[in-house]
Amino acid sequence: MSLDPNTSIGFHDPKLVIPASAAEIGAWSNTLIAMGELVFIVVIMNADLSVRRTMDVEMRKAIANGDFQLHYQPQINEAGRVVSAEALIRWRHAKMGNVPPVKFIPLAEETGLIVPIGNWVLRAACAQLAQWEAQQHTQHLTMAVNVSASQFRQPDFVQTVSEIIRLSGVTPSKLKLELTESMFIDNVDATVAKMIALKAIGISWSLDDFGTGYSSLSVLNRFPLGQIKIDKSFVRDMLTNARNMVVTQAIIELAGKLNLQVIAEGVETREQLNRLREVGCLNYQGYFFSPPLDIDAFGTFLLPAPSKSKTFS
Ligand code: C2E
Ligand code: CA
Ligand code: CA
Repeated sequence: MSLDPNTSIGFHDPKLVIPASAAEIGAWSNTLIAMGELVFIVVIMNADLSVRRTMDVEMRKAIANGDFQLHYQPQINEAGRVVSAEALIRWRHAKMGNVPPVKFIPLAEETGLIVPIGNWVLRAACAQLAQWEAQQHTQHLTMAVNVSASQFRQPDFVQTVSEIIRLSGVTPSKLKLELTESMFIDNVDATVAKMIALKAIGISWSLDDFGTGYSSLSVLNRFPLGQIKIDKSFVRDMLTNARNMVVTQAIIELAGKLNLQVIAEGVETREQLNRLREVGCLNYQGYFFSPPLDIDAFGTFLLPAPSKSKTFS
């Protein structure tokens, strides 16, 4: 039997036809459900907005009250010596407790608060560097400071950094500024000009999270970098993912040919450290050596201790 597609089977059976009143109720309930969902989304968005507003207000207070702190994570050379530290911001809020940077830095980026926060970080890091320079056992230390995109994009970035350095009295070559690849996408000429201007006074540039961007290789010869930081995701997967190991090795070789220093971040195990050494990476940072420390703990970490000699076999 062939079915005529134009024949609607059953629809004319009065028992199967939905009464108009019921259809209306169905339509209404659909509308109500849709409205409910909309209200839910609006409530969530408002809640999100209010969290963001609260965070913004709290960050402003934190700037005014001096509630931010810096912690320092040691950077170790091939001889096992602490040669540098990365300054990492910490925010201990009276009610919210420790707020991790990933929770507030991106928001500060969006609202522009990253500019005063970043300037505070630079001033605090330089003040610390000045203290290290004044003491014999710490005067060799350099300091890496993270610079965020909107901070770097400020028209007066070069003057601001130069002024902070000048006022602190530190030797500019002790300061290393960390940028990420995303900053190299737009305004290439302006970016290069800023980097060259600060390099001219002695500041060096490190490329953070290397390998995670889209244009890593082209960035290397276009910008006046001194160091690249192999991203922790490479270090983490290096021993279990052969392709990752090949990429890591290629990065290290290329950096060597371009006269760039390489540092691996996120080194957590001796196996990772040994493998990195084998393939020629001679600077390291990560929990295997130490987490970021407050200034007192960092001072203690610097003291010679017999236990630390086991770090390098
Ligand atoms: P980042 O610059 O890539 O910093 C390294 C992050 O990895 C730090 O997280 C550090 O604590 C963590 N880390 C260190 N060793 C290990 C390890 O062995 N394993 C693992 N899994 N992680 C390790 P933190 O301090 O939470 O900072 C997160 C991010 O927030 C930073 O990533 C940076 O992008 C941003 N940030 C932190 N401080 C500042 C700052 O002063 N200014 C700006 N603009 N950004 C900052
Ligand atoms: Ca960094
Ligand atoms: Ca990083």
